[in-house]
Amino acid sequence: MTDFAKTKSLFHLPEGIIYLDGNSLGPLPKAATAAVSKTMQDEWGELLITGWNKAGWMNKPSNVGDRVGKLIGAPSGSVVMGDTLSIKVYQALASALEINSDRKLVLSDTGNFPSDLYMADGLIKSLDKGHELRLYNPESVAEQLTEEVAVLMLTEVDYRTGRLHNMAEITKKAHDLGIITVWDLAHTAGAVDVDLEGADADFAIGCTYKYLNSGPGGPAFIYVAPRLQDQVRPALSGWLGHEAPFAFDLDYRAGGGIERMRCGTPPILQLASLEASLDIWDLATMADVRAKSIELTDLFVKLVEDSCPDLKLASPRNGQERGSQISFHFKEGYAAMQALIDRGVIGDFRAPDIMRFGFTPLYIDEGDVIQAVEIMKEVMTNKLWDNPKYFERSAVT
Ligand SMILES: *Cc1c(COP(=O)(O)O)cnc(C)c1O
Repeated sequence: MTDFAKTKSLFHLPEGIIYLDGNSLGPLPKAATAAVSKTMQDEWGELLITGWNKAGWMNKPSNVGDRVGKLIGAPSGSVVMGDTLSIKVYQALASALEINSDRKLVLSDTGNFPSDLYMADGLIKSLDKGHELRLYNPESVAEQLTEEVAVLMLTEVDYRTGRLHNMAEITKKAHDLGIITVWDLAHTAGAVDVDLEGADADFAIGCTYKYLNSGPGGPAFIYVAPRLQDQVRPALSGWLGHEAPFAFDLDYRAGGGIERMRCGTPPILQLASLEASLDIWDLATMADVRAKSIELTDLFVKLVEDSCPDLKLASPRNGQERGSQISFHFKEGYAAMQALIDRGVIGDFRAPDIMRFGFTPLYIDEGDVIQAVEIMKEVMTNKLWDNPKYFERSAVT
C-alpha cells in the first residue's frame, strides 16, 4: 500500500495553501531543487560539453521515457521525452495520417483541449491534401467512427469536466474500422491507471508539468506502439531522431524504434526536476493513486453538494467515469475562484463557467478536502466573491 503521508512530506507545499490545481501545474518536489542544482554545478558546471557522454545526458529522453512509461502501461522502449505537448500532438498526428494516407478524415471531440485542435488544423493546412477535422460531442464521437476516418484523436480525460473516455473500448472499435488512434494523456498520466499496451493504443502523448510535477515548461512525452515504430516516419525530422546524429549525413534516416521521435536537444535541467518527481512516483502505485483519487473526489463532491447548493456538478458523478478532477458550473465562477485563491484554496477557472479542482493523492489528503470545502462554504454562503477585485481577469485563469 502506498504511504501517502510519506509522499506528501516530499513536496514543498506552501503554508496556508490547499493546492487543488496540480492538474495544471504540479508542486515542487523538495528534492528537485538539489537535483537541478547538482545538474547545474556538478554536470554542466564541471563537465561542460562532456556531460552529454559522462553524465548520460544524451540517453535521458529514453531513460526518463521508460520511467514515465511505467505510469501509463507502456513497455520499455516505447516512450521518449522532449518538446512540449502541442509539438507532440503535431508529431503524432502527422505520423498517424501518413499510415492511413488514403483516408482524409480526422475525428476529435469538442471536449478536446483547443491547442490539440489548433495543431491539427495547422498540420492539415500545411499538408494541403484535403484532410478535414471533424468534431463531435464527447458522448457521441465513438458512434461516428467509419471506414472513412483516418485518425481518431482524443484526450482521454476532458480538461473541463474530467469526463473519461473508455480508451480500450474506443480503440478496439477504431481498429476494427482501420482507424489509427492518437490519445492525449495530459490529464491521465499520474491521474488515471491507464494501460496503453493493454488498450493496444497506437500513439499517445502527454505533458509532465501537470500530475507528474516536472515544473513549468517540463518536457512532454510521446508513445508509439512497438508494432508501429519502424514504419513511422517522423514529420519533425530533427537530427537527434536520426539514425546516426553525429555522422552529420546530409540525408535524414530515421533512428531505430522510439528514438526517431526525438527532435532536437533535450531540456536536461527540466529532465532533472522530472526525475526528482519520478523518485516520489517510485514510492506509489497507480492502482493506489487511482483508488485514493476516487475516494477524495467522491468526498469532495458530497461535501460541496451538502454545503454549496449554488454549485452544479459538471463532472461525471461516477468516479470510474472521470479523471482526477472535479468541476462545478457557477455563473460567477471566475470571481468565486479568485475569492477562494485569496483564502488559500487554489483551483482554477475554465471559460465559460467552470470552477475546476484537481485531486492529487501524492500530496492531497482528506483533511485538505474537508478544510477546502469549509472555505468554499464560507465564500459561497456569504457571497464573498461579490467584490469588484475578484472580477478583474488575469492573463492566466
Ligand atoms: C495542458 C494541455 C496541453 C498544453 O500543451 P503545451 O504544449 O504543453 O502547452 C495540450 N493539450 C492538452 C490536452 C492539455 O491538457
